[in-house]
Amino acid sequence: MYSLGKRLAWLEGPGATCEKTNPVPPRAWHLVLLGPPGVGKGTQAEKIVAEFGACHLSTGDVFRHAARNLNGKAPSPAMAIALAAMKRGELVSDNTVVELVRERASCLACQYGFLLDGFPRTIDQAHALDDILRGVGSKLDAAVNFFAPEALIIERLSGRRVCKQCRTGYHVANKPSRVPGRCDACGGELIQRDDDKPEAIRTRLQAYAATCNPVLEYYRKKGLLREIEASGDPDAVFAQTRSAIQKLA
Ligand code: AMP
Repeated sequence: MYSLGKRLAWLEGPGATCEKTNPVPPRAWHLVLLGPPGVGKGTQAEKIVAEFGACHLSTGDVFRHAARNLNGKAPSPAMAIALAAMKRGELVSDNTVVELVRERASCLACQYGFLLDGFPRTIDQAHALDDILRGVGSKLDAAVNFFAPEALIIERLSGRRVCKQCRTGYHVANKPSRVPGRCDACGGELIQRDDDKPEAIRTRLQAYAATCNPVLEYYRKKGLLREIEASGDPDAVFAQTRSAIQKLA
């Protein structure tokens, strides 16, 4: 059982180093997670990390980490534009996201392996990822795509809450806190992410629908795509995910 770790090299970029708290896994898995927001990629990512030891590299987490750590300072112009797009539920520009991943290319060559979550989201990002991987002498084992009916996705996203202090995640129906509105772990206030509000959810799902097919097709043609039906409970979905990854060995 591996833990998530602080992923500082990923979250903070060049100059930051990770504490190596986990043992090095027997195999460094190189995986991409695909699927619409709210399909449960984050939960599956936690389970994949725990079992296979790969490092969870989410591009959304990099933006959220930057937003939380401004400490009153103005963000760089590129980051300010990115954070405003994120708040509205829109995609950040390919150039900005690719640059952010390129700066962190060493994470894609790490001995722990990686689990990319939220990248690539467009075909240009998929091409850029191949180029970045080539540059560090690495390549993908698989792109795992999670899918579920849209009504279920909207229900999952709109009920999501997160602790303002420790970032623990909850769901008003599926994973409620013991005291409504308060975190079980630290007592912090539970809030709804701006991009989980109804208008932003609609925009995010539209953005996903507009860009996902070429990416899925790209990985299908390369023989890398693995499809997982993700409507069930997280453990049942993970049983399928685990088996799909084990078959790659
Ligand atoms: P996520 O947590 O993956 O849903 O990402 C949150 C937000 O970050 C998205 O709605 C986008 O605004 C932005 N974002 C994250 N990854 C990407 C990406 N690969 N391309 C464009 N925008 C992204």
